[in-house]
Amino acid sequence: MARIIYKSAAEIARIREAGRVVSTVLAEMREAVAPGVTTGELDAMAFHIIREHGGVPSFVGQRQGHIVYRSAICASVNEEVVHGIPGSRRLNEGDVVSLDVGVRLHGFHADSAITVAVGQVDDETARLLQVTRESLWAGIRAVRHRGRLHDVSRAVQEYVEQRGFSVPKELSGHGVGRQLWEPPAVFNYVDAGHENPPLLEGLVIAIEPMVNAGRAEIGVLDDGWTVVTQDGRPSAHFEHTIAVTKGGCEVLTLGPHDPWPEARRPRDCNHHEAGEDRHERTKL
Ligand code: MG
Ligand code: MG
Repeated sequence: MARIIYKSAAEIARIREAGRVVSTVLAEMREAVAPGVTTGELDAMAFHIIREHGGVPSFVGQRQGHIVYRSAICASVNEEVVHGIPGSRRLNEGDVVSLDVGVRLHGFHADSAITVAVGQVDDETARLLQVTRESLWAGIRAVRHRGRLHDVSRAVQEYVEQRGFSVPKELSGHGVGRQLWEPPAVFNYVDAGHENPPLLEGLVIAIEPMVNAGRAEIGVLDDGWTVVTQDGRPSAHFEHTIAVTKGGCEVLTLGPHDPWPEARRPRDCNHHEAGEDRHERTKL
């Protein structure tokens, strides 16, 4: 079991700064998504905004075996679950696109994702997006100081499965810090074999439900990156980077791309002053 690296308040402040850039990128891309737009155009937009803020795209240079990732974002359309490579593909009315962004700023990463409907989508797909987003917030609400990591995994899993959707077993969230992927792995289901550390102040994790409309089984395309559903049905992905605090947690990538769910604000998260202030500012 790899060692968890707990972060100081100063380090969390840096992750919060990176998180602000991530949120800005996602908010701009959400506005730009429309029929006819290519995923490569969204990627170019992300590169531009990240550089403008003095950051570096976290995903560039990440390796899968000998294959190196070259894009600032992952853009996963319809049956693509995660790790879709941006390019010349044009979005069509009725598609859904999962947009995942990581930014490194002052030596620390932040990571967040949203899934966006392109124009009008069918009712089941709209429900998939809603349930996936709410399952992320169910996971965030489950974070309690001195609770356990499996509390988060269980909250996500129950929220998703009770609504008839499924979580792929091979994918997980992760610790976030000087590395984009640090221990612990944050799975979206409970398995006794997964590590289950206590949730202590200074733990920073990316909670990221990936939810399939149909069956949980996934595969990887020949490009070595793109994860797809085996049954060809759509998948969605929402993600926030959070820090465990004495009072619960703070969402470090909170912003206009994914604000608090209306009237369902978690009581035990971001209740401290800094989080409140930042949320008000990022609404502008
Ligand atoms: Mg991500
Ligand atoms: Mg992540």
